[in-house]
This record gives sequence, C-alpha cells and structure tokens, in this order.
Amino acid sequence: MDLSNISYTQFCAIIGFFGLIVGSFLNVIIYRLPIMYVRQLKAEMPGERNELDNNRGATSALTLSTPRSTCPTCNTALRIRDNVPLLSWVALKGKCAHCDTPISARYPAVELLTSILSLFLAIQFGSTLTTIALLLFTFLLISLAFIAIDGQRIPTALTQMLLWAGLFSSVYEIGLVEIKMSIIGALAGGLGAALLWHIKKHCSYGVKLKDLIPVMVGLGATLGPSALAAVSLVSVTLHFCVHIAAADRFYHAKHNPNVYVTLVCIVSYSSIYAL
Ligand SMILES: [Zn+2]
Repeated sequence: MDLSNISYTQFCAIIGFFGLIVGSFLNVIIYRLPIMYVRQLKAEMPGERNELDNNRGATSALTLSTPRSTCPTCNTALRIRDNVPLLSWVALKGKCAHCDTPISARYPAVELLTSILSLFLAIQFGSTLTTIALLLFTFLLISLAFIAIDGQRIPTALTQMLLWAGLFSSVYEIGLVEIKMSIIGALAGGLGAALLWHIKKHCSYGVKLKDLIPVMVGLGATLGPSALAAVSLVSVTLHFCVHIAAADRFYHAKHNPNVYVTLVCIVSYSSIYAL
C-alpha cells in the first residue's frame, strides 16, 4: 500500500485498527506468557515448587497460539466472529455467546488502550522508524503492567525484549537516547533495582522485587539515565500514595511490589511525551 496517497483519517483508522488487533494479542500474552514462564521455571528448578505454585491456569499444553481461546466457563472454542477485537464484546453485550457468562471488560479495555496509545504515537511521531520502535516499547509496557496487576511473575522474555529493543533503537538512532546513554541507563536501572532488592530481600516480597531488576534494565536502555531517574522518583512517590490511600482495605497492596511495577510502566510510558 502506498501510504503517501491515503488521507489523514484513513491513516488514523488503519493505526487504530492495527492497535485493536495487537491489543487482542496482548490479552493472550498477558494471560498465557506468565503461565508458560512459571511452567518453564518449575521444569528447570523442581526445588522451588512451593514458591511457584501460586500460579493459575490449566495443566494442558499451552503456547501463545494453541490451544484456541475458549470460554473459561463452558469451554467452547471461540468462533472467529466472537473473537473480533472490541466489536465482538460489544455485539455480545459482554457475555459468552454460548453460556451467557459475563466476559471481563478488561479484554476490550486492553484492546482499546493499545489502539488509543498507538494512535497517539502515530500522530506524534508520524510515519517514522521511531514510531515503530516506540510502538514496540508501548506494547511491552502494556503487557508488563497488566501482568504485574494480575500479581504474576514477570516473564524474562518480555524484559529481554525491552532491553534489546532499547539498545537496538539507540544503535540505529531511532530511539529516544543515544547508545552511550542507553548503556548507562541499563546499568543504572539494574544496579538501582538490585540495591533496592538487596535492602528489601528479607521482607515478605523480596522474591518478587527481584523481578523488577530486568524491568529497570530494559527501561534504562530505552529511556536513558536521567528519564529513568525521573520515572523512579515519580513512581516511588505514587507508590507511597497508593500505600497511604489503600491502607489495609485494598488487597495486600501494602506488600505488593506489583503496584510499583505497574506505576513504573505507566510513568515510563508518559515520559515518552515529556522527552
Ligand atoms: Zn461460555
């Protein structure tokens, strides 16, 4: 397709639709990748079963593409027309087509969020390679944030992609910072998070806080050290606000490092527009 001949409205419509499709795939990643990751950890470290056993999910073989998506209640495989991003959920009034079980509004919300953020990026950075690099960054952050919200382990595959995407976009000068700043940012993120983990590792959430280290390495590579420092400062402040606001009413938010990972992802994303 010759992009130079399409109107602005058509361009936005294409990006918006692309965002919905990707959002639908991110829903699959958010649900399945942590299950696959924990299964892999269990296979590699049988001695750590107890720590890993709090994971959800079925016991059958699972990849990102198989088995087909099914209704968790009646187990019916979704037809293509029941699986169209956003539209199917609206058409079915948020219920399974077979058993009328309500389907979480989070699925269309993730699709809509991905679509809107993709549109913002495309409008702000135009048809450039930077847009593609930042789209990948955005998709990774959405996945990481929702996996953290679910209280699941952060899969290494996602944080490694974050790191490599940050480094490669800097090497090819399509990222937010130059390569020197990217490397310093990755080192600063890793050392800072490792220090925090070392201080907190005797607390109840020390193990999960370890998951923050690769996230911060990847973010540092993408954002550079100064933006990463700003992100950390804002996130820590918000984290304490969540602590105070949540107190004991909100489910163990008080000891939940995932609140922090989620905030880090959201603030990092916002910093794209500040840079
Ligand atoms: Zn059903």
